Amino acid sequence: MTVFNGKGVYGAIALGKISVFKRREAKVKRVHVEDTQAELKRLEEAKQRSVEQLQQIYDKALREVGEANAQIFEIHIMMIDDDDYNDSIQSIIETQSVNAEYAVAVTADNFAEMFASMEDAYMQARSADVKDISNRIIGNLSDAGADEETDNEKVIICADDLAPSETVLLDKDRVLAFVTAFGSSNSHTAILARNMNIPAVIGAGEEFLNAIKDGTFAAVDGYTGEIFIEPDEQTVERLEKKRCEDEDKKRLLQELKGKENVTLDGKRINIFANIGGVDHIGAVLASDAGGIGLFRSEFLYLESSDYPTEEQQFAAYKKVLESMAGKKVIIRTLDIGADKQVDYFGLAKEDNPALGFRAIRICLTRPEIFKTQLRALYRASAFGNLGIMFPMITSVSELEKIKAVCEEVKSSLKQEGIPFSDSVELGIMIETPAAAVISDRLAPMVDFFSVGTNDLTQYTLACDRQNAAIEPFVDTHHEAILRLIEMSAKNAHANGAWIGICGELAADTTLTETFLRMGIDELSVSPTFVLKVRDAVRKTDLSK
Ligand code: PEP
Ligand code: MG
Repeated sequence: MTVFNGKGVYGAIALGKISVFKRREAKVKRVHVEDTQAELKRLEEAKQRSVEQLQQIYDKALREVGEANAQIFEIHIMMIDDDDYNDSIQSIIETQSVNAEYAVAVTADNFAEMFASMEDAYMQARSADVKDISNRIIGNLSDAGADEETDNEKVIICADDLAPSETVLLDKDRVLAFVTAFGSSNSHTAILARNMNIPAVIGAGEEFLNAIKDGTFAAVDGYTGEIFIEPDEQTVERLEKKRCEDEDKKRLLQELKGKENVTLDGKRINIFANIGGVDHIGAVLASDAGGIGLFRSEFLYLESSDYPTEEQQFAAYKKVLESMAGKKVIIRTLDIGADKQVDYFGLAKEDNPALGFRAIRICLTRPEIFKTQLRALYRASAFGNLGIMFPMITSVSELEKIKAVCEEVKSSLKQEGIPFSDSVELGIMIETPAAAVISDRLAPMVDFFSVGTNDLTQYTLACDRQNAAIEPFVDTHHEAILRLIEMSAKNAHANGAWIGICGELAADTTLTETFLRMGIDELSVSPTFVLKVRDAVRKTDLSK
């Protein structure tokens, strides 16, 4: 048995086989070949396999996310058959007597560059698609003959690190737990693991990568951050017991369903849930949350290989609003940038992306993207109780510009005779120290604040939330953060606005009493933590 220690980011236990995460970005070598005909045959087989896989992905996407979102995989299938693309690969193999992997990679680079240089945003986005299909073909050339993992056994996914875009694309039905060698506990990958209700450990260290092999039995303790490779019998028994106790505790919490979020002395608070996509709605409904306090809409963009259209977004937002049947749903406009990178946005590489071109800064610079999202949101507002929230606010002037765009979008919808609700609440994230400090100026302009403690902590303590090495310096209970929250709460209430917290700190039950005393009106947490926070609220007595 070998034991590794990382940081547990979602407390739960998992036992099962390891699956090493395979990235489809193959490093391709140029190899001279004598038999170019054999190379062309290998290429044909790899293309055939790629088409079959894409067909399966298309069918799954069609079932799970609908036709509009599945369509991209149909386009990928057509791209694999494109004459120009295929002529280029064939001619490189034949004229240069090289391996098919190399010919595909060179063609992919040439075509991607050509698409990227086009004026039209739609054609520019094809650049990421051609890379995607080419990586798939190269992957299939490399594992020629190897079977795709077809069995449905759940596995422990082990990786160096996982980008949020990689995490959302994992087949959730097959994931028992995540373990990454690097990464930090406030990263979006960690947040996703919590939302998905699966044990996760990050920062297991570089040596962990050398110790893992596909199919090896392992156990993950998401509470302590321990990973046991080939655990001995005693460890398996101990962890099985812990898993059963854990399940018992979770079952006990289920008894709180339907009960109120009220303290012993009668103070009430809303407990809402955070989601990253339409497919998390089931978990929200099961959690008995009073609403959705944060829908991270950027995941719609991360899951897609092109800008989601107004129709696609409208369908997703409408579905969430309808499923919540009149309960409050707060959808945050896209927060792309920093660790959430999307190829087709074509963002330039930055030295300090967390301090760079991110979230509302992208929306205000590229209003066509912003307006498309706002149109979809306002249209969907006719189907439920919508609040729209804007991320990364630092100034009054940003908010003035945002409100002007909202007015423009509403008046064009009105002109077109498209219905929308006239009671959509508008709010902002308080996730920069600047926003908290000028919260007295911002509060009169909005209906609500929602404190994003993940970023507020990063920016207040000057600690990169992606950097695991800096975690010892991150005091999530730092007085500066708590004072900024308290100041924002006072300023919100003095101006008739309400205030919630939607960062990970909202689920920290050692702070529930503090937040209640500050007058926080809503705590929005991963669906898995709703009942835990309800339990903490019901045990609090503010009269003492
Ligand atoms: C936050 O910063 O606390 C937040 C909720 O937003 P995100 O984690 O998506 O940056
Ligand atoms: Mg944030």
